[in-house]
Parts: sequence; C-alpha cells; structure tokens
Amino acid sequence: MTEQTIHQITLPTPYAVGDVHLYVVIDEAVTLIDAGVHTDEAWEVFKGELKKLNLTIHDIDQVVLTHHHPDHIGLVGRLDHVDRIYGDELVHTWLTRDQAYFDHYLDFFNQMYEKWGVPEPFRIIHKSLSQTLKFSTEGALTDVLTEGDAIPGLSDFITLETPGHAESHLSFYNSKTGDFLGGDFLIKHISSNPLLEPPRTKGKERPKPLLHYRDSMKKVLDYNFSSIYPGHGEIFSGHHSLILDRLAKQEKRAYKVLDFLKEKPATPFEVCQFLFPKHYERQFGLTMSETVGQLDYLMDVGEIVEQQDSGTSYFAPKYVITKE
Ligand SMILES: [Zn+2]
Repeated sequence: MTEQTIHQITLPTPYAVGDVHLYVVIDEAVTLIDAGVHTDEAWEVFKGELKKLNLTIHDIDQVVLTHHHPDHIGLVGRLDHVDRIYGDELVHTWLTRDQAYFDHYLDFFNQMYEKWGVPEPFRIIHKSLSQTLKFSTEGALTDVLTEGDAIPGLSDFITLETPGHAESHLSFYNSKTGDFLGGDFLIKHISSNPLLEPPRTKGKERPKPLLHYRDSMKKVLDYNFSSIYPGHGEIFSGHHSLILDRLAKQEKRAYKVLDFLKEKPATPFEVCQFLFPKHYERQFGLTMSETVGQLDYLMDVGEIVEQQDSGTSYFAPKYVITKE
C-alpha cells in the first residue's frame, strides 16, 4: 500500500487575491486538486513545480476540482490527456461553456439588478462574464461528485458539499488522517466571498449564497480537521474558532445593515453604497453579493421585510418601534 502524500503547488494569478494553491496527492493514483488559472505564466510555473516533485503532466492520473472559478479550473484544457476529471455538475456547465446557461446567467443578473435598484452604468454583467471566461478554460468533467462520494485512487477521502463561495463548491475530507482539501471554502487570512449566482435551473428560486456559506461552516464544526489545505493563504488548523469568529462578524455586519434600514427603507443598491462607500464602484459584483447576502440573512432571521414599489425592491425592518 502506498502512503498518501500531499504536495502544495503555488501558481500566480492576475487576481487581487494573489497566488492560488493546487495540491498533488500521491496515492494509488496521482491526483491533482484544482487547476490554476488559464495563463501561459501559470502553465510554465505549474510544469516547473511538477518537475521539482519528479513528475510531469503525463503522471497526473486524475483532476478533482473544488469549484468553477477560473483560478481553480483554468489549466484543465491543457491537461486533455487526463482520463478522469471530477467536480460538481455546475463545473461541467462552466467547462463546456453551455450557452443556454450563460444566457440564463445574464438574464438573471439583469433582472435582479433592475429589481435591486442598480443604476444602468453598473449593469455590466456581460463584461464581467467575459472577463471571467478569459481566464477560464474549456473542457468537460468525466464524473460528477456529490455529498459522501469517494474518489477512486484517492484513499479515504470523501466529498463534502460546501456551497457558499460558489454553488459548485466541494471539499474533500480524509477521515483517517483528518486532512481537509478545502478550496476557497475556508481560508485563514480572508473571509471567502459568498457570490451571487443564478439558480441552477431557470425559473427555480435563487440560491442564497451567504446562508449556504453559513450552513456549510456550521456543518464542518462537527469534523476534526488536522490540516486544512486551502486554495489561497497558508495551510492551517483550528477551524472551529475561525468559523465561530466568521459567523459572529457576519452577524454584526447584518445588524449594522438593520440599523441603517431603521432610518428609512432602502434598495439593495443603496445598502451596498452604505456598506462599501469606497469600494462599491470598483468592486461592484463582490460588494453587491455581500450586501444581498446580509439582506438574505436578515430576511431569514425575520428582522426585515421586502416591499415592492413599481418593480423595485425596498427592505425595511419588520418591527418598527414607535416612540410615545
Ligand atoms: Zn473561488
């Protein structure tokens, strides 16, 4: 029996987040966890790092993808000799560049932005989609993973669905060693952004990324991870206190939003300007996702209500204290 070893490979990205980590797990098979970003620079560094492990791209038996973001799937298209590529079904949708899904994606954001009071100049979702696709790649999954699935050749790891940062997010837990391959689900130095996405199927209810993220974090409180291997930042342990801290900080921000709404009902766009006065213009997608997440949370705990006025949504506190 081979002893399982996990090697970290670090690649540059053109993103603000900086470098991304991939992992090579050597076991009965050689498994690559995640595939960096689609640039020539990342590809060259990748091959050089494999060489340091006495490997070439032809030694990779399979690729396992944590989620569909470009800095995690970008080099899949250059690994077309690999027989098995695993991930969530939605990763397949992005890899195959399913046009029907992209149409649905654009429609969804256009409709939501209109409803959320977003002014015309910020409704440039087609631009951000083409920017995303530029550093992504084309390919296909050979196998779809869901909760509890084992992966042949990667002993003792099971799949955990951990949506929030991305609807497609999966993490992998080794029950024998406690190793946890966490992608962007748990990162030590930054809180992962729960990003807005359309429902997987057109016409279904929109996913609530912040609520999914909270559920994913609460779910893994029951696990004892020895080492967490993240997509960004350092390898770490001690996820219990990190999660409790993240949950508390998020709740604090939500109550800041509630206080703002007590002044007067506001659209999600107005709440976004309030929460991120310096950043909302340049990081519109991120800040709007975070804002809608806080509103979803306040709706979920019953603190606010949604009101419609000529097609625009306003949020207001549910309980208004009237002064005598
Ligand atoms: Zn990501």
